[in-house]
Amino acid sequence: MSKTKFELINVVAGYRNTVVLSGVSLKITDGIFAIVGPSGSGKSTLLRLLDRLNSYDSGKILFDGELIEKYPVDELRRKVGMVFQKPILFDGTVVDNIRYARNSLNSDEINNLLERVGLPSDYIERKWDELSIGEAQRVCLARTLATNPEVLLLDEPTSALDPTATRTIESLLLSLVPKISLVWVTHLMEQAERIGGQAAMIYRGKTHWSGFAKDLKLADDEIVKKFVSGELK
Ligand code: ADP
Repeated sequence: MSKTKFELINVVAGYRNTVVLSGVSLKITDGIFAIVGPSGSGKSTLLRLLDRLNSYDSGKILFDGELIEKYPVDELRRKVGMVFQKPILFDGTVVDNIRYARNSLNSDEINNLLERVGLPSDYIERKWDELSIGEAQRVCLARTLATNPEVLLLDEPTSALDPTATRTIESLLLSLVPKISLVWVTHLMEQAERIGGQAAMIYRGKTHWSGFAKDLKLADDEIVKKFVSGELK
């Protein structure tokens, strides 16, 4: 039985003069949860609310049944890690970047993290600018895993990668489940189908559809049909 990790209740959020989410209600269950929808529909904005990278104007967000604001931000971000579209590393070695998340990591723990993301242990001293983009994304993932998160928020984590690296990162992420839950934003219908699990479609600032990802293509709804066919991107 899946458990609700996050619950959004009538959430309104956006930027200075723009309302992006105009009253989103959604239960995000543990395991794999895809947030789909065309570009510009507010998926990233929604995801960023779950780690308090963005704030919202009204409504409520619960994490494990508690108001999200009850968690100190650093505790929340340890439990809920984030991986972005493009790998963001700072000037330094792989180990410097990973220790940034948890300074106390010893070399066995670092090696273990590298192994989990499929990088050889001799990468430890490699400089950040000597990595391919796929390798850099793995280092970002290792850094996120360093705090032992319960949930990973994934904001189009493969969109900067070539098809081979995309598949590798996809299977790596899926192998973390069920120990770690994934909330995976994608505008790609094929990716939503590949990753499976539960899904919700955000469209024009609201939850337009929710169900199993595999049922998206069966939905009797014009907007979902356009998204599935690629007409709405
Ligand atoms: P999606 O992830 O579905 O592509 P986003 O949440 O990134 O959608 O964007 C939703 C809307 O919010 C878009 O119209 C986008 O231009 C706008 N937006 C996103 N980030 C910002 C920002 N930092 N400042 C102002 N507007 C933004």
